[in-house]
Amino acid sequence: MSYSIREVREALGTCSRLSLADLPTPLMDCPRLAAKLGGPRILVKREDQTGLAFGGNKVREFEYSVAPAVDEGYDVLLHGAASQSNQSRLTAAVAARLGLKAVMVGRKDDHADPVNGNLLLTHLFGAEVHLIESAQEKVAVIEKLKADGHRVYNTSSDGYYYRSVSYVDGFLELWEQMQAMDVIPDAIYVCAGVHTHTGLVVGAKALGVDVRIIGISPSPQDDEKKNVQLAEVANEVCKILNLDLSFTAGEFESYGKYAGPAYGVLTPGAREAVLLAAQTEGLLLDPVYAGKTYGAMIEHIREGWYRRDQTVVFVHTGGTPALFAYGNELLTSY
Ligand SMILES: *Cc1c(COP(=O)(O)O)cnc(C)c1O
Repeated sequence: MSYSIREVREALGTCSRLSLADLPTPLMDCPRLAAKLGGPRILVKREDQTGLAFGGNKVREFEYSVAPAVDEGYDVLLHGAASQSNQSRLTAAVAARLGLKAVMVGRKDDHADPVNGNLLLTHLFGAEVHLIESAQEKVAVIEKLKADGHRVYNTSSDGYYYRSVSYVDGFLELWEQMQAMDVIPDAIYVCAGVHTHTGLVVGAKALGVDVRIIGISPSPQDDEKKNVQLAEVANEVCKILNLDLSFTAGEFESYGKYAGPAYGVLTPGAREAVLLAAQTEGLLLDPVYAGKTYGAMIEHIREGWYRRDQTVVFVHTGGTPALFAYGNELLTSY
């Protein structure tokens, strides 16, 4: 079973949606990087250019996933993760745009002090920021908000599947751009994550497009378990959009081995990728997500996965404000 672009758009049109992102995002050619690597044509889908507050994939995702918060009258958008979380930054920015209260319950980790990058921006957007050291502290913050009469929408767990729905839309946009350029890609690289990867895979299958989509995780993981999880999310997305498709883990390709020792730890490959993208194309990546993904793509090109006449697409999911919190690591050579 496959669908036309119009049919998938109609299915997407049944979902509630906010207007937050500048779309479509550009699709950029990287001839100098391609020449330097002696490999395939490289196109970058600029999801770091979604507009709001330094952009990133969360802006596109929140158009769908935060819409229910508005529809159902929530008054607090909450998010908690690493101190340099892009999602915390964009939760705070979107709350400001919508006139809601923002609360960040971030981890007091290595990149929390001095206040910089995403954490600085989260403060500037007026979020109430808690930097905590235990899970109980997070529960306490949420309980207190509820006791004070707030309705708390957690942008990680609430609207979860709608974040992937947004990247079905993202795939349609990318596919139309590639058709206009007369390009059929041989592989698409994306930082995975869950939602961007899953949405792209659902979008491709919905249109009957057979393209290899390679997810590179920012954290070490059990790849098989991850693929099972991604297939489950994909099946939920199909239910929401009423698409007659189903997915198995074998339809997903994801790798945890490029993440290095842990989430948020800069690897030599990511550092090289950040410098190479900046110095060949004037393109800024981030050290935590896009850098690791781009680094993996560069490694595959060097290993000869692609011929020169082929094309790979790199989906740049954003995260550039974290660069400012990683200055020391980025400038120290290994
Ligand atoms: C959050 C994030 C991801 C992963 O997002 P998913 O929603 O799971 O696809 C990837 N890259 C960046 C820069 C992010 O901030």
